[in-house]
Amino acid sequence: KSTVLSGIQTTGGMTIGNYIGAINQWRIMQENHDCFFMLADLHAITVRQEPETLRSRTLDGVALYTACGIDPDKSALFVQSQVKEHAQLAWVLNCYAQMGELNRMTQFKDKSSKHSNNINVGLFSYPVLQAADILLYQADKVPVGEDQKQHLELTRDIATRFNNIYGDTFTVPEPQIAEFGARVMSLQDPLKKMSKSDENPNGYIMLLDEPKKIEKKLKKAVTDSDEQARIYFDTVEKPGVSNLLTILSVATGKSIEQLVPEYEDKMYGHLKKDTADAVVSMIEPIQARFKEIREDQTELDRIMRVGAEKASAKAEKTLKSVYDALGFVADP
Ligand code: ATP
Ligand code: MG
Repeated sequence: KSTVLSGIQTTGGMTIGNYIGAINQWRIMQENHDCFFMLADLHAITVRQEPETLRSRTLDGVALYTACGIDPDKSALFVQSQVKEHAQLAWVLNCYAQMGELNRMTQFKDKSSKHSNNINVGLFSYPVLQAADILLYQADKVPVGEDQKQHLELTRDIATRFNNIYGDTFTVPEPQIAEFGARVMSLQDPLKKMSKSDENPNGYIMLLDEPKKIEKKLKKAVTDSDEQARIYFDTVEKPGVSNLLTILSVATGKSIEQLVPEYEDKMYGHLKKDTADAVVSMIEPIQARFKEIREDQTELDRIMRVGAEKASAKAEKTLKSVYDALGFVADP
């Protein structure tokens, strides 16, 4: 059985991009893989967070993962800060990552220009913590959206470098990027990926958005202004329309080839309306389950405890072998 690790930062609610690009794959993978899914709160503090908001958002995340179908008894569903080895291994790996390679990371360039008043060291070494997350579990596969490809490459480089010096210590992981929907675009700027920390909320749809809001946001979605306003799939000529078709396709389970002929004589408004309806139908059962679990603090505590126990068992083993390899004196 191969091992899978992935996670989402608790920097905001979860978008349909996070769902389509990540969680939706996880749900399927947990059936035949050894899975570890975390709420990445250590990553979240690379941008400033309000403590009470962060706390409640993390609990939202636990409930939302579960509501999306992550089964806490099949997968290890855990909160990153509750497994101390993440921070410990990240320190070690910091000493095996080069400033030059981190400097090339496009996410750092994006985020440091967005948060120019707080370009902290954590934001810079974010990909190293991510490497630690993955390598701690000896993960073979990492299901992520396309934006994480570059970080995964770095994780592979760090793992290989460490193995070359100290002998086989880490499994070198492969990214698992969905063939379709790995890059859901912003509704306001279809050349930019949808992000939960976008300053314009019209750019994203949250899994917990009210149906009315979803309709409104999709109505306002930027479509492509060519002469004939035809509906077809072409991410270069028609990025806005293609994004809506992608979302509609995932939400209905119909392929693009099936969908496009249905819109031959229709207008953008039809596509937006149908996409809104499909997204709402996809999300409604998730929202209902979310409400139930979120109110049950005993169940949330149980999920986090069981998850942290499962995760720690594996993480401890890896960290011990790393410490041994480095020459740290064993605990007396
Ligand atoms: P932030 O803006 O705070 O970085 P985010 O929406 O990018 O938030 P992350 O927590 O950084 O979310 O990423 C969680 C997972 O969701 C990753 O696997 C990432 O690749 C995936 N993901 C994020 N945005 C999209 C998107 N627009 N389309 C598909 N997958 C996405
Ligand atoms: Mg991101």
